[in-house]
Formats: sequence, C-alpha cells, structure tokens
Amino acid sequence: MPEAATRVTPNPRARVQGMKEYFPPLGCRDALRLDFNENTLACSPKVREALARVTTDDLTRYPERAPVEAIVAGHLGLAPEQLSLTNGVDEAIHVLFETFLDTGDELLLPVPTYTMYEVYASATDARVVPVLAADDLQFPFARLLAAITLNTKVIAIANPNSPSGSVATRAQILEIANRAPHAVLLVDEAYFHFYGESVLDLIGVLPNLIVARTFSKAYGLAGLRLGLLAGSIELMRWIKRVLSPYSVNSLALACIPPALNDTAYLDWYINEVLLARTEFEAALDTAKIRRWPSRANFVLIEIGARHKEFTRLMSAKGVLVRDRSSDPGCDGRVRITIGTREQMKLAASALEDVLAALNIIGEVQ
Ligand code: PMP
Repeated sequence: MPEAATRVTPNPRARVQGMKEYFPPLGCRDALRLDFNENTLACSPKVREALARVTTDDLTRYPERAPVEAIVAGHLGLAPEQLSLTNGVDEAIHVLFETFLDTGDELLLPVPTYTMYEVYASATDARVVPVLAADDLQFPFARLLAAITLNTKVIAIANPNSPSGSVATRAQILEIANRAPHAVLLVDEAYFHFYGESVLDLIGVLPNLIVARTFSKAYGLAGLRLGLLAGSIELMRWIKRVLSPYSVNSLALACIPPALNDTAYLDWYINEVLLARTEFEAALDTAKIRRWPSRANFVLIEIGARHKEFTRLMSAKGVLVRDRSSDPGCDGRVRITIGTREQMKLAASALEDVLAALNIIGEVQ
C-alpha cells in the first residue's frame, strides 16, 4: 500500500460534501406530541394483537413482502405490479429520486413543503427548482406550470401539503401531468385520510403519475416505518430495481393486514381529528391568531418575531409544537398537529397562557 494512502481519509462525493446536515428534533418527546403530525393516540388494538402473535420464525427469516403487497394492492384496487411497500415514504422519496434524477435534471418543488424532498434531492446530481407559494400558501399552480422545462424530470407535490395544509386540486394535478409528460409526477398523499380526496385512481390513466401513501399518520405506525409507492407497471419496474427487497421488516409486514382491516378504528380516529381541528381553529380565531386553512391533521399559525420563545414556552407546558420559521416563506410561523378533542383542549389552554405570557395579541388578517 502506498504510504500516502495511510494518511488520507476518504472524501464523499462533492454533492454530499455540499449537503446540509438535518437533525429533526426527535429527542425528549415525553409530552403531548403536536410536533411531527403523527397519530397522537394509538394504532388499532388489532395491530397490537398481531404483533403479539409474531413468532421466532418470523424474526429469523428474511421478510417476504410479496404476499402483503398483493393484499395492499387489492385494498387499493391496484395490481401488485403497480405497487411497492417501502420503509416509510422517506425511503420511497429517496429511491424515486435515485431512480430518476440524473445530472442536468430538475426537480420542481413547490415550497414550503416537506423537508426530506430537498434533502434526498441534494444527494443526487439534479438541480432543485423551488417554486415559492404566495403569502396565502396556496398551491402555486400557475408558477409551477411556468417553471416546467424540458429538463424537468420529477415534480414532487405533497397533497395535502405540509406545513401549509393546502391542497392541489385533481384538475390541477391532471393539468400538470399532461403539461410535463416527460417528468415523473409524485403526488405524496401522506395526509390523504384527513383530506379524503386522492388521485390513486388516475394510475393507469396518467402514465407519469406516482402516488405515495404512509402508515405513519392516520394509522399510528410511524415507529414501524411503513409507506408505499404506486404507479404504472413500467415506472414501478424501474423503481423496484433500486429499492431494497428487504427494507420492510417482518413486524411491519405483520401489522399491515390488521391495520387495513380495522376500518372502524381508522374512521373513528380521522373523525375525531377533524372535529378537534374545527374546535381548535375556533380557539385560534377567538385568540385572533392568523391561521392557514388546513385539509390535514395540523394547522400552521402566525406567531411572529417571538416564535422561538413561543415554542419553548409551549414545550415547558408539556405541549410540543414545531417552529417552521426556517421554511421558505414561513418566518414566524408555527405548525401544530391536531390530536384528539381532549388533547386539543389542553393545547388551546396552553396556547392561551403562552400568548398572554408573551403579550402576543394576534390579529387575524
Ligand atoms: N410526506 C410528507 C408530506 C410528510 O409530511 C411526511 C412526514 N412528516 C412524510 C412523507 C414521511 O412519511 P413516513 O413516515 O412514511 O416516512
């Protein structure tokens, strides 16, 4: 071995050297967790029962995902070849970008949006083209259409979007897909259950559409890391080349059938969150705090210059919320996850105290 080789440390790719470090604030979360848009209560008890039935053999063997993928595909009205389970939507995004984004390609990204799109894109050799929403944070449809070029390779739309809670309509999604037939259109429906509208049925109609779903939100299984991608057989075939066949573990696979079958639990939780959202929005309006209309299990509010203190004082009161000030166009704005009505009553009361302590007098604009 040459002598010099013993002295140098390996360097990552230039792209990786340029990446920002990203540490989501996941530590010390023993409180009311209104900071990550998870289910704030529990998964279905049927899922807990399935976990209790997991055998030593289930743990010893490599996980076999195909039979469960067939069940999920059937549940969604798709062919198994049109779907892949993933280790959360995060793996889905990562693999989709690795599959399609090359040097010279562009990722069109309406912003503000889910942070991990930019993180994974920055590890590829493509360029991120952010499309900033106006102050109302509505989906920037016209700007997005205007930003499409022949280099556009992927367009990623969270629908509903986070942290704004706004949505792209079905007509807008159709128009974008048709105007960029050379690009993959990812519609990330992580918050679908709270919105109720989907474009999953357009798979097979729009050859460039890929839809993502997660078990982290309404289903209450964020800790298991379960997501999925669905799209045309052709697109999915490419994605499956890059995707690990082992990335969804046996425990997660065992939980999917009971999670899908217990529709009574899912419907109850969604309904509870929607009722709680209405009540919490009313409390915000009473406090004259500006809020953005949300179709998801969270709401973005305007706190202003004292956003850091607000977040810290809420946490001191046992309510974790997420300061989104570093998101594009979101300075002074904080996102609050919606949990059950009881939890949101606690949150509203903590909010009232903290606003009073900080002497923040909101003004709905
Ligand atoms: N997409 C969006 C829009 C999200 O907000 C989140 C989580 N906050 C995810 C995907 C990640 O989902 P998962 O837990 O399945 O990786």
